[in-house]
Amino acid sequence: MKSKTIVLKFGGTSVGSIERIKIVSKIILSHKSKNTRIAVISSAMSGVTNELIKKSKSICNNFDHAEYDTLLSTGEQVACALIAGNLKSLGYNSRSWLSWQLPILTEGNYSNSRISNINTKNIKKYMKEGGIPIVAGFQGINSNFRITTIGRSGSDASAIMLAKFLNADECIIYTDVDGVYTTDPRMHKKAKKIKKIFYDEMLEMSSLGSKVMQPTSVQDAKLNKIDITVKSSFVKKNGTLITGSKKSFSDQIITGISSTKDDAKITIVGVKDKPGVAAAIFKPLSDNSINVDMVVQNISLNKKETDITFTIKADDLKKSEKLIRNNKKIQFKKLAFDKNLSKISIIGVGMITTPGITYRMFKSLAQKKINIMVISTSEIKISVLISNKDVKKAIACLHKEFNLD
Ligand code: ADP
Ligand code: ASP
Ligand code: MG
Repeated sequence: MKSKTIVLKFGGTSVGSIERIKIVSKIILSHKSKNTRIAVISSAMSGVTNELIKKSKSICNNFDHAEYDTLLSTGEQVACALIAGNLKSLGYNSRSWLSWQLPILTEGNYSNSRISNINTKNIKKYMKEGGIPIVAGFQGINSNFRITTIGRSGSDASAIMLAKFLNADECIIYTDVDGVYTTDPRMHKKAKKIKKIFYDEMLEMSSLGSKVMQPTSVQDAKLNKIDITVKSSFVKKNGTLITGSKKSFSDQIITGISSTKDDAKITIVGVKDKPGVAAAIFKPLSDNSINVDMVVQNISLNKKETDITFTIKADDLKKSEKLIRNNKKIQFKKLAFDKNLSKISIIGVGMITTPGITYRMFKSLAQKKINIMVISTSEIKISVLISNKDVKKAIACLHKEFNLD
């Protein structure tokens, strides 16, 4: 009988204490059978990565990038050693594997690298002999043999890429919720578990604030056609399948609602309405790695001047203001700011073929007297910028409007 390879990933809360490490070990062993080969990816114990970031900041604000990644990668090392050590104490063959020991190769900048290759030769042999490798998530090495990390929540991408390079039959992401919900179940009690969701919808939901899966990992899964099951390590329940397969999907128009917090808005009032101005505004922001999200430019009534509004993360507000004020390439009348904003998005492939969704979204927000500040759309999502204080109310009314309750 052909053997089956599965990759199991455990998130921070799942491995957040010694009790949890013991429970996770039991889950790993529950997958063990004569014909199953298991590889595990673990995150750091919950809170550890944040503590490490704090430590680097207490040294200085511009801590060395390479040392930052070396520091952050240690969280995963602890969790992997604890799981492997626990499995060994129970009499099983297991060992931890750090990225440089495989190796897991990455490309790109520190803190935000992407996995380009994983040498699976040694773990494949180990798995064939019945061993359970516990691989540190979130990290790799670059062409200078330095340790890199692959972005916050990156262990999700480690799991997908390990599944790809092992040619695994299954990839299960164990977390602290029992699947992907129509909206964050911690924000709205009536959120419902989704049985199956398309990669594209999951990608939009993740990118628009649904933290349950890291966006890069969903992109990697889509590119490599890897089905993902999201499940709870706390309760034994069926999870959610993230897939590209069109088999037995519901005909829901809207699949999910995502929200972000801590967005900010800048309006540059009275800039010259001529070619090149937008590029001149955004160049210094881009040079400083400030992520600009929604952008709107007003219609210029006198054809001489216009207003440009855009959103960024509130953390970047001060720096962005300084960059705009110091930008000699633009002239404007005034700058206006707004913080404590959120972006609410409705997502669903059903939107492509169903007219009237935008109207229904705006109408239900209007009925709740929620003011919309900026709007942006794509084929399968509509996002609006609103005040932080209206987020819960907005999620509740949209959840009801689109029959998700
Ligand atoms: P892990 O540490 O296992 O990687 P995360 O904290 O990254 O877990 O992701 C799980 C969390 O994602 C949940 O606790 C939940 O609050 C949040 N979340 C946000 N949006 C959703 C959603 N649509 N469905 C499920 N969980 C969501
Ligand atoms: N430990 C890392 C983080 O907190 C990676 C992960 O948990 O996936 O971002
Ligand atoms: Mg996560």
